[in-house]
Amino acid sequence: MSLLDPYKNCRLCPRLCGVNRLCDSKTGRSGFCGETCQLRVAYVGPHFGEEPPITGNRGSGAVFFSGCSLRCSFCQNHQISHQGLGRIMSLEKLLEKVKQMIRRERVHNINFVTPDHFFSHVFKLVMLLREEGHDLPIIYNLSGYQSVETLKSAADFASIYLPDFKYSDSSLAGRLSKCPDYPGVALEAITEMVLQKGFLDACHTGTFTAKRGVLVRHLILPGKVENSINALTSLFVEFGKGLPLSLMSQYHPVVYQKDKDLNRFVSEDEFDSVYSHAIELGFEHLFVQFPNKDPGLRPHRSSFFPDFRQPDPFRP
Ligand code: SF4
Repeated sequence: MSLLDPYKNCRLCPRLCGVNRLCDSKTGRSGFCGETCQLRVAYVGPHFGEEPPITGNRGSGAVFFSGCSLRCSFCQNHQISHQGLGRIMSLEKLLEKVKQMIRRERVHNINFVTPDHFFSHVFKLVMLLREEGHDLPIIYNLSGYQSVETLKSAADFASIYLPDFKYSDSSLAGRLSKCPDYPGVALEAITEMVLQKGFLDACHTGTFTAKRGVLVRHLILPGKVENSINALTSLFVEFGKGLPLSLMSQYHPVVYQKDKDLNRFVSEDEFDSVYSHAIELGFEHLFVQFPNKDPGLRPHRSSFFPDFRQPDPFRP
């Protein structure tokens, strides 16, 4: 199979668009993710905003791709998921940039952020890195909306999965991400990830940085506490209290939302309700991002709210 074959009748994600993303064909076009088969990248560089076993002290080697197969209305990376920020890059150029990052920054891992619509390119990149002797852990930082079949094809090219579990409420998933099937699809996807890699090893071995496993993330949305509480319960029922879980309160309104709740930050009460539930359930490996008590102190730009127009999107 050639590098571009999976893009001919693209079914890489559960959207199953079936479009031909090949640019050299007359019928070539992008699917729901907004991307053709031309690799487009928004940023390559060290990132210090991940959980401690991923960030370590030298940063996680992030590669942010343009486009997204989920495209949530409130996306925190709206510039690249919706507005198309990023530039066309050959695989050779990306390989060069990744190697440069490894050499100069001595990052702990390679962290592909929202890569599923470019999986074919990413797998090839991992093969090339390995052929040249690079053995850093390979991270797939995913929306959770992946098909089991696609994840099976990723197994040999992945060390760590960082999936979101965004919604337990299908109507909310339908409204905000146009995928009412998200809760079931994401739980199946996370099950496959756990079967492949187990839970994040650093949580059990106590090693400084992780080498393998799964860490699930949940972003608390303002006004959607019930969705969060039920999401945590679903994760607990499916995977038990040993599942490494990251609870994030960083939600930042990016573009105006019809749902008025989404035009503000998460309140302390909302955060406390979700956090208390996680504690009651007894999750043993909980990473918690506590909200800043003073909304006035919330930075306009931060390591959680990047500006991809800047050379270093994460510099406040
Ligand atoms: S990767 Fe893009 S084109 Fe392919 S099925 Fe998903 S949304 Fe559609």
